[in-house]
Amino acid sequence: MSPAQSTGQRRPTKAMHRLRQMKRTTLVRRVTQLGFAGFVVFAAARHQLESTSGAASVDALCPFGAVETLITWVTTGTLIAKVHPSNLILGLAVLISALLVGNAFCGWICPLGTVQDGLWALARKLKLPQWRPGAGTDRVLRYGRFVVLAVVMGASYVTGRLWFADYDPYLTIFSLHWLFEWSDALIVGVVITAVVLLASMFVERLWCRYLCPLGAVFTVLGRFSLFKIRRDTNTCTDCTLCDRPCPVGITVSKADPVVNADCIGCLDCLTTCPVKGALTLAPPMPVNRLISSSARADRDDVVMSGKGR
Ligand code: SF4
Ligand code: SF4
Repeated sequence: MSPAQSTGQRRPTKAMHRLRQMKRTTLVRRVTQLGFAGFVVFAAARHQLESTSGAASVDALCPFGAVETLITWVTTGTLIAKVHPSNLILGLAVLISALLVGNAFCGWICPLGTVQDGLWALARKLKLPQWRPGAGTDRVLRYGRFVVLAVVMGASYVTGRLWFADYDPYLTIFSLHWLFEWSDALIVGVVITAVVLLASMFVERLWCRYLCPLGAVFTVLGRFSLFKIRRDTNTCTDCTLCDRPCPVGITVSKADPVVNADCIGCLDCLTTCPVKGALTLAPPMPVNRLISSSARADRDDVVMSGKGR
């Protein structure tokens, strides 16, 4: 009789292990998201309360400023008004992270994503209806991000300023202007933000899926990212369990072999999959083999040196 049986404890089943892993991954992600959102709120409040101290504004903490100034910078060699060097540094950091882990910024860091996740959870508690667009509608709506990106880049170039700042839900919420220095100029941004937030209670991550211009940039870069969620078609049983938790509506069970570039790296599909090895977050096969063979070589070295002693 095993010690667990003799003390009357039940052995954890595979399903229980999976559930624990899901909860752990979700907890780590939520803590990370809340940490970044808290930091941005703290920075914005400090900027508002200590305006004479030179504390950075939330505009300076947005990597999208680097995208907005791109055309001006390439054509004239200057930055558009209010773009801060920190925007460029953040833009570069986000670019590198996108090439490594795709859109994980959206799933783990962006505070607007965190707000949408919170509203979605609230809406489920309130049992509000949800709308899951069909595959065709979804595909068409996703082009919305590229339309917004083109409009924003064009308008920023023509006006020579951060044009999107007046309408961007991220800046509208997290700049805290609505709290500390209300003016009528905020009305359009507040209305847009309210509509987006309300709609994201009915369509999960609506802003990220269909409207975010930074998301459009990530989707393009995500195609070249090193680490991607990969499905092993030999071990996958086509149970489709992995499709249900995806916050951006990707049909993970049809990935052949990588999920599409809209993935925000939340890892929910990975922790839901009941078949070991069917879904992995991994680099392409040749790099994967290189990593495994170098890890094997290190292990062999350790074993050999252990034997020699
Ligand atoms: S494909 Fe998986 S990791 Fe990517 S967003 Fe969907 S559930 Fe998350
Ligand atoms: S949950 Fe795993 S086994 Fe089931 S369809 Fe998705 S990848 Fe395949």
